[in-house]
Amino acid sequence: MEKFFGNRNALGLFELQNDPLFSKIPSANYHQLIDKAWSIGRNTADKYYQQYGTRFPEELVKKLGLVLTEKKQGFVAPQYRICSEYYSNLRQIILYQDTITGELEKLQAKGFIKYKDYTEFRSLFIAHEIFHHIECHDIGLTSKLDKLTVFRLGPWRITSGIRALSEIGAHGFTKALLNLDEETN
Ligand SMILES: [Zn+2]
Repeated sequence: MEKFFGNRNALGLFELQNDPLFSKIPSANYHQLIDKAWSIGRNTADKYYQQYGTRFPEELVKKLGLVLTEKKQGFVAPQYRICSEYYSNLRQIILYQDTITGELEKLQAKGFIKYKDYTEFRSLFIAHEIFHHIECHDIGLTSKLDKLTVFRLGPWRITSGIRALSEIGAHGFTKALLNLDEETN
């Protein structure tokens, strides 16, 4: 989570490095991919702000007809802990309160005091998931911005998008919608 508040390129690179296809992306393309995905997020935030007249993710959720559900994740192995999810068919965003609160407490322990409590902090996760909704229902998946050949057999090639690009787009969207500094905050 700390990475989200840092430098944009470091955040983008972090997402790419965590992508299963990272080893297939030529290093010369990293910055261009990050820039493109980030711009899609930022431009989408501008467009939705113009169209719906709000920077509050909670209001945007209502205006877009999404269902917002808050749950406790309970005990799961640390590598499987997630803060939020989006289900396209159900038009539903799920926030995991205990996991989000845990992330906030970790940031606060490091002296990061911008967000006082869960209610303030959850906006970031709602905005992030709204971007995934917009990808599914309006602008198309940012992950398909670039396709990599992951398997080649004779004349057949199997290509795949880069999931991390959707995450980078969601970060750009969240920061632009909430007017957060893109470099540090
Ligand atoms: Zn995401």
